[in-house]
Amino acid sequence: MVRTLIQRLWPIVFARAGRLMKRESRKEASLKEAAFRALDNAYAPYSNFRVGAALQTRSGEVITGCNMENSAYGLAICAETLAVASAVSQGLTDFDEIAIATDDDEPTPPCGACRQVLNEFAPNIKISSYTRDGKEAVWTLDQLLPHAFVLNPSRGRA
Ligand SMILES: [Zn+2]
Repeated sequence: MVRTLIQRLWPIVFARAGRLMKRESRKEASLKEAAFRALDNAYAPYSNFRVGAALQTRSGEVITGCNMENSAYGLAICAETLAVASAVSQGLTDFDEIAIATDDDEPTPPCGACRQVLNEFAPNIKISSYTRDGKEAVWTLDQLLPHAFVLNPSRGRA
């Protein structure tokens, strides 16, 4: 009897969960798609490690970035940092999520420098990373950068 009830209710529960997940994932899907569109513009002829990023503000704007390498290797700019710089140049500094897309086999977290850049504006930002074959990882910045450097402005003054 109980088993029959569970068997009858399960498809309903599953369908409701599916609807909720679809509603939630539509926003994430568009941010993910924006990251993959940015990935198509990545300029990484030296490492061939191409990255796209899409940063979302709390008010819903999406700003993208891709990695951009240079013959002088040290001048390379990461996709995440480029997205943040582009957003800041538009007066946008209130971020709640960033999606990262790569051609790699596993979801790639932002490098240490980008974690610090993100921390400047969004210490609690959600970070999602995607591969082309559908693998996904999600972190919060405080998981990836638990002891971020924060300059105390009074430090260094005479
Ligand atoms: Zn980086």
